[in-house]
Amino acid sequence: MNIILLGAPGAGKGTQAAYLVQKYGFPHISTGDIFRSNIKQRTEIGVLAKSFIDKGQLVPDEVTCKIVELRLAEDDCKNGFLLDGFPRTVNQAEALSKIADIDYVIDIEIPFARLLHRLTGRRVCPKCNASYHVDFLNGNNVCECGAELIHRDDDTEETVSKRINVYTNQTQPLIDYYKQRGKLISVNGDQSVEEVFAEIVAKLG
Ligand SMILES: [Zn+2]
Repeated sequence: MNIILLGAPGAGKGTQAAYLVQKYGFPHISTGDIFRSNIKQRTEIGVLAKSFIDKGQLVPDEVTCKIVELRLAEDDCKNGFLLDGFPRTVNQAEALSKIADIDYVIDIEIPFARLLHRLTGRRVCPKCNASYHVDFLNGNNVCECGAELIHRDDDTEETVSKRINVYTNQTQPLIDYYKQRGKLISVNGDQSVEEVFAEIVAKLG
């Protein structure tokens, strides 16, 4: 099974990716990770990608697609893969269609207000990086390690709203693209992680 995983910040995509990998055994291909490893190993394509990043420019689609193509050609992807962070645009989706056949696109859906609540309620530990939600702290603003929890600037309502809106505007055309092609599986993300996962597994058949 070749799968693409989509979900807004705060939708719990990372957790579902880990569950999927555990159940189906295919590799989790995160474009962020393959960029980092190509740059670190100074591969030809990694050096090229870095030259754009160093100039503060966006890495062009051809380069990103090539990096994904090389990764998907590796042996461990033969029986399927879980693609995360790519494609981000319809152009990239069309380029990907020439590289691989995608079976399903899983979209973890959560209403805007719920995402906002999840992300603005986040409290993190500056010492050990543990993350909590105010709903479960019972007014006790202290980490298990003993440090005082903080509300990061990134987690204010204004910043979070902006981040969600950018994601939604960017991703909607992609969702429409895969819907038209009969590949889209929408999953209700506003449930426990176990329930979300059960719904994904049921819909994958
Ligand atoms: Zn801590």
